Amino acid sequence: MKKILALVLLSGGLDSALAAKLVLDQGIDLIGIQFTSPFCLCNQGGKCHAAAIAINLGIPYKMVPKGEEYFKIIRNPKFGYGSGMNPCIDCRIFILKKAAAIAKNVGAEFLVTGEVLGQRPMSQYLQALKIIDRETGLAGKILRPLSAKLLAETEPEKNGWVDREKLLAIEGRSRKPQLAMAKEFSVNDYACAAGGCLLTVEQFARKLKDLFQRKEKITFNDIGLLKLGRHFRYHQNRIIVGRDHGENEALRKLKLKADYILEVPNISSPVTILQGPKTKTAIRLAARLTARYSDNQTKRVTVKYGRTKPVKKIIVSPAPQLLTARLNLSL
Ligand code: SF4
Repeated sequence: MKKILALVLLSGGLDSALAAKLVLDQGIDLIGIQFTSPFCLCNQGGKCHAAAIAINLGIPYKMVPKGEEYFKIIRNPKFGYGSGMNPCIDCRIFILKKAAAIAKNVGAEFLVTGEVLGQRPMSQYLQALKIIDRETGLAGKILRPLSAKLLAETEPEKNGWVDREKLLAIEGRSRKPQLAMAKEFSVNDYACAAGGCLLTVEQFARKLKDLFQRKEKITFNDIGLLKLGRHFRYHQNRIIVGRDHGENEALRKLKLKADYILEVPNISSPVTILQGPKTKTAIRLAARLTARYSDNQTKRVTVKYGRTKPVKKIIVSPAPQLLTARLNLSL
């Protein structure tokens, strides 16, 4: 008899790994897909947990970038934001639609997710799941094995491909049942119990909001810069000051042609990027901020700046605490 194939959305976290395990144990073939974006904390540090989980489960795995079109979803979410700039309901709709298209291509009959009823305040309460099902047109085709017994019967259950009795009825924010299952199933290479998304982090959300307000079309480069350094806003200027050697090097790479670069020569100094109009006031301010975070704390600090290389000189006093606090976008 031909085996049934399904697509499981692996986040790199524990819940989707357990959901996959529950479905595999029922004799369903699975392909794991992971949607990636520059906002995913699970991917920081170079280790891809979803790939490791797929290997442990013995299933094929595909990484799918959400792409620049995802930025539009974040900018204008139909169902609003969570605590930060996280448009969770829209985000789920977006990836499930993409997953459904992939499922169609590979001949998968249904989708499997690690969603748990009531676990996430925005996207996993009953009404949100109903909205997601309605907006994606996938009602009945998304199996959520961890909470399936609390939800309406899906097509794989109705068709007898999956035994509903062997699915679970987990609800709420406690992670005890999942952690116990992780032990029982020896699932231990997962990112963190709840996954992670930069869009939910308050300081990052503030910087992103500022970026959306100032720029119509944002790029991966913009997001890369948002993840680095201290960010200051002065009218049309954004000033980014590196916090350590690694960030300084990354800032050099992400600097665009129109940006200015600044640093204090011959001493430990941040690399600073100045974006926006290069007025005398903006250059002076960027230089004062660079001086503030350098090891030169005298009253007159020479800062070098320029478009391709810092070759011009300006002498400034380091920016005082009050000024940095007023302009800092993360505070
Ligand atoms: S937390 Fe982030 S990745 Fe997860 S659903 Fe919300 S926006 Fe999407």
